[in-house]
Amino acid sequence: MPRRALATVLVTLALLMAGPAHAQEPGDGAGLIHVVQRGESLYRIAQRYGVTVDDLTAANDIADPRRIYPGQELRIPNAGAADAGTGEALVTHVVQPGDTLLSLSYRYATTADRVAELNNLVNGTRLYVGQALTIAQGSAGASPVQRGRVHTVIDGDTLLSLARHYGVDARDISRVNALSSPAVLYPGQRLVIPGGPDDESAPLLRELPDPLLSLSIDPLPAVQGQTIGMRAQTSRPATVTGAFMGRPIAFNTSDGLNHTFVFGIHPLTARGLYPFIVFVRDTADYLAHLSVDVLVVEGNYGREVVPVSGQLQALLDESVTQPELARLASVMTIANPERYWGEGVFHRPVAQRVTSYFGTRRSYGGLMDGLHAGVDFGSPIGTPIYAPAPGRVVLAEQLAVRGNATIIDHGWGVYSGFWHQSQLGVAVGQTVEAGDLVGYVGNTGLSTGAHLHWEMWVSGVPVDPLQWLERVFP
Ligand SMILES: [Zn+2]
Repeated sequence: MPRRALATVLVTLALLMAGPAHAQEPGDGAGLIHVVQRGESLYRIAQRYGVTVDDLTAANDIADPRRIYPGQELRIPNAGAADAGTGEALVTHVVQPGDTLLSLSYRYATTADRVAELNNLVNGTRLYVGQALTIAQGSAGASPVQRGRVHTVIDGDTLLSLARHYGVDARDISRVNALSSPAVLYPGQRLVIPGGPDDESAPLLRELPDPLLSLSIDPLPAVQGQTIGMRAQTSRPATVTGAFMGRPIAFNTSDGLNHTFVFGIHPLTARGLYPFIVFVRDTADYLAHLSVDVLVVEGNYGREVVPVSGQLQALLDESVTQPELARLASVMTIANPERYWGEGVFHRPVAQRVTSYFGTRRSYGGLMDGLHAGVDFGSPIGTPIYAPAPGRVVLAEQLAVRGNATIIDHGWGVYSGFWHQSQLGVAVGQTVEAGDLVGYVGNTGLSTGAHLHWEMWVSGVPVDPLQWLERVFP
């Protein structure tokens, strides 16, 4: 088979992998996406896929081949050639909480050793959330076990007691784990309890502490300045709390079984691994906990210089900026337990094009360095501004730096702010639906021309609002 045709077959196989498989088909020809791991060099990646470093730099517009970073997505031209001889299908799996070499080897019908070998993992390496692993699917020859639980044996467990506890056939446990007969179980032994081939209600196979059935973060890898949604499921009513980046997390739940949270990653967060700790407490006060590392990658935000005329320079003074920021924070960091925003994506508050993106590192006339905490739309004065989603107005007043400002509380710690308006259109306490008038575009406060600045805060920090136009959270 010609090389390119073979690569296409492999990509097709990868695309057929539903759910966590992360292979993408690029627009211009065949290829896999490889997500750079810690300690990898371009040379090593090129070697793995049987391509040259030049191929990789050309396919990914890499200016300096020495500068790649964990989490970076690289398009591999003509991927698959290196492993063509074995007949395995290479897929990429992005690690979620509870994924271990054991659970992944069962889910993809491969072996833990083969996963470790393909990803240069040394013995005992702890996987991290957002890690992209290359997996040779089907290399072990057995059928995959997609759903189920990993049970760690304790004193007194028997094959029959486990079968009863999980509602599965003891013979299935014995077969899946290749146990001898009679089965000898020892404390600490990890057994895969299959969820059954047709049992769609069983959780994806992961190693999570009881009563946690699933815990996921989306999207991955997490990006500085972006929002992530967190979801958890428990097998019995429980509360789920935790901490991430030094901030407490209290998952929202209406039935005690399904738990969600939206978390904003501050745009100045350095890329790297961050511990995420989760506590699950059931109604009998049984407490389980889990600690994982989560990868945060760079947002690659740009830089710009904003000229500030003499008259506006007074607004850059800390005696003006700091109290105003403190006032914003006092409003936008409160986690309202009510959720007002609906099920869908947010809507654009104005129709005009974006003139400055979120996260841009700014220099204000060389006098002050800052960060663009919102997104600017180049709208003319008087353009109506519409609410992007339902919420409640919690601030509507004139501020020195932000001019005529409105803040909408969307609930669950999610806020929208609209700065520099010519005229306010709502009052504090008013509720709005998506598409309701909020006010009119202007040029008030620290503004060098008519535009709308839309700012969003999530769980206490500013995040990119444009992500909310495309994706439903949590
Ligand atoms: Zn702005």
